[in-house]
Amino acid sequence: MSLIPHFIGGQQTAGPENRRHPVFNPATGRQTAEVALAQSGDVHQAVQAAQEAFKSWSQVPPLRRARVLFRYLELLNQRRDDLARLITAEHGKVFTDAQGEVTRGIEIVEFATGIPQLLKGDFTDQVSTGIDNWVFRQPLGVVAGVTPFNFPVMVPMWMYPVAIACGNTFVLKPSPIDPSPSLLQAELLKEAGLPDGVFNVVQGDKDAVEALLDHPLVQAVSFVGSTPIANFIYERGARNGKRVQALGGAKNHMVVMPDADLDQAVDALIGAAFGSAGERCMAISVALLVGRVGDAIMPKLAERTRALKVLDGMNLAAEMGPIVTAQAKTRIEGYIASGVAEGASLLVDGRSPNPSALGEGCENGFWLGGSLFDQVTPSMKIYQEEIFGPVLSCVRVNDFAEAVDLINAHAFGNGVSCFTRDGNTAREFSRRIQVGMVGINVPIPVPMAWHGFGGWKQSLFGDTHAYGEEGVRFYTRQKSIMQRWPESIQKGAEFVMPTAK
Ligand code: NAD
Repeated sequence: MSLIPHFIGGQQTAGPENRRHPVFNPATGRQTAEVALAQSGDVHQAVQAAQEAFKSWSQVPPLRRARVLFRYLELLNQRRDDLARLITAEHGKVFTDAQGEVTRGIEIVEFATGIPQLLKGDFTDQVSTGIDNWVFRQPLGVVAGVTPFNFPVMVPMWMYPVAIACGNTFVLKPSPIDPSPSLLQAELLKEAGLPDGVFNVVQGDKDAVEALLDHPLVQAVSFVGSTPIANFIYERGARNGKRVQALGGAKNHMVVMPDADLDQAVDALIGAAFGSAGERCMAISVALLVGRVGDAIMPKLAERTRALKVLDGMNLAAEMGPIVTAQAKTRIEGYIASGVAEGASLLVDGRSPNPSALGEGCENGFWLGGSLFDQVTPSMKIYQEEIFGPVLSCVRVNDFAEAVDLINAHAFGNGVSCFTRDGNTAREFSRRIQVGMVGINVPIPVPMAWHGFGGWKQSLFGDTHAYGEEGVRFYTRQKSIMQRWPESIQKGAEFVMPTAK
């Protein structure tokens, strides 16, 4: 069984033999490798390597740091499909979707190559006679990233390109479910000329995360994952004096107004609910159908849900691949059962897809088809909780105001979408909705690299979004310098608050 190791100080290293976790191909259900699980000693080694590398990396001019990222970009573009194949093999999402994930990650690296401009300070000449004042931003030191299984390339890339461009050094703790892409990223960074120790990977679970949260040399932690863990990371990191941004779970709604183009809305709902088997933090899991839309759209949604092509992600005809793990499949099945028990109407039941339709060798994979509920109400568990699987819950509402109130009352506030042809509805929706990322006739409005990504409410703990200029602010701190020269100093001690003279 091959072993997926850590990457510390520019070298692969395995750590103690008693800490291993199986890695599966979810399409076949077969174990393909095992991954090392770091203990506090491995984490300490990685943090030490990063601390040592920080001394020189933080002194490298931003332009030269950017040049390393330009070389990394070239390598990423050459190896894009290798990364995508690794994602599909361990996560299960369809290959073309994995290629899209890599592309969205590469865009953050492209953004980070602009670091000389992003780190430019502000200067004021003559704040008082003979005195100048300027501010600039400096890196924090060793920073850590803890990432979820669902985007093993893109989510780490929300973090480390910006962090290291700013002059920090980085320790990544990826998900043990799909750890291989993190190692390829580390190898490519090394090949691009990144000095050893600037980017490190510790594979692992809760133990590795706690060791990072408690390590005195770790200055900041970026987390993306489920809400309970995000909350825990935020509290423990903050208690230990660290800067923390912790992005959590989601329950994203899409409102379909009576004036919307119904066929476009159906395409959007099917793609956004079932793409990547619903395992996206920006997946649409609730449709709010306004007025007459409900009766008109449900038959179309049911037909399209039944027709989904659920296949091994490496099959280019696949629209949806398997569920990531057997445990996740069981959890999702439990939610479907609870929706039925609470009285929602299950129009399409994805719990038993036909094994012979999945493709050869896939009989033991972790498979579900798409599931579609109608008549879901806000008191139901399937409405309130994040399912994180291919289940679309449809709620009938009377009007726009009811839709807005429901969304604003929900605990999560990651993404949201409204389909309408009316400009004023679109404008009012964008302004009134209490959600961090809004789409108008766009089902999954993931912001571009230079705009930053983040939800509101239980979807984000902390005050800066990931990447974009918010990311640069998160990974740096501002310093203010006030300066004068002996020629402009007036004699005599001053005992009053200095003001401009
Ligand atoms: P998860 O919370 O189980 O795991 C995330 C990371 O935390 C992993 O690296 C994991 O090893 C670690 N972890 C797990 N349990 C821990 C514990 N008790 N203590 C410390 N660390 C622990 O999430 P997941 O299942 O890998 O990913 C799916 C979740 O991530 C969903 O809730 C999804 O909405 C969310 N997500 C959010 C965003 C966003 O931007 N808001 C993006 C992607 C995924």
